[in-house]
Amino acid sequence: MRIILLGGPGAGKGTQAKKLVDKYGIPQISTGDMLRAALKEGTALGLEAKKFMEAGKLVPDEVVIGLIEERIKLDDCKKGFMLDGFPRTVGQADALKKVLDSMSLKIDHVVSIDVANEELVARLTGRRTCKACGSGFHVLFDPPKKEGVCDKCGGELYQRADDNEETIRSRLKVYDDQTAPLIEYYKKAGLLRPIAGVGSIDEIFAKITSVLGG
Ligand code: AMP
Repeated sequence: MRIILLGGPGAGKGTQAKKLVDKYGIPQISTGDMLRAALKEGTALGLEAKKFMEAGKLVPDEVVIGLIEERIKLDDCKKGFMLDGFPRTVGQADALKKVLDSMSLKIDHVVSIDVANEELVARLTGRRTCKACGSGFHVLFDPPKKEGVCDKCGGELYQRADDNEETIRSRLKVYDDQTAPLIEYYKKAGLLRPIAGVGSIDEIFAKITSVLGG
């Protein structure tokens, strides 16, 4: 099964993707995670992406398209994959289709997790992630037992550099202007599966698995 997860920043794509990996055994491919890893390693690609990411802007299409093209050709994608945070522009969606066509593959479902912008701002400003194991928390909605410390592994929690209010506003505008048109794009292709992104993580997960068929 090949899935795209669509939704604004903070809609819960990453959280749901991790649960879907466990259920369906297909890899989560997050361009955001790949770019953050490149940045941490200090590669040329990471340095190029840095200024865009810190400003809440999109990294140029050719950069992320190159990353995805390499990634989906790896062996672990033979059973399928889940794209989280890609495509984010119509140009990226067209490029993805071209790559998949050349491999005689297609996308099965585009799950769009819909959440209102004000709710996204509240979620993102309180978001915290474990440096060691990557677990996610929220200072109000899902606080760790001890402030700044991961419940699961005791690692240190940090706030993403782009989860400050100014950058968040920019990311939301970028989403509305450049990524939201993909909803219509995939609706026309008959692939869109809209999900209301309200309720608990498990409730939203249940809605997603029911549209994916089990
Ligand atoms: P994310 O973790 O998906 O919220 O992505 C964090 C940041 O990485 C975004 O604000 C962009 O700067 C960059 N990024 C991630 N995925 C893409 C993409 N598909 N196209 C362009 N920029 C991206």
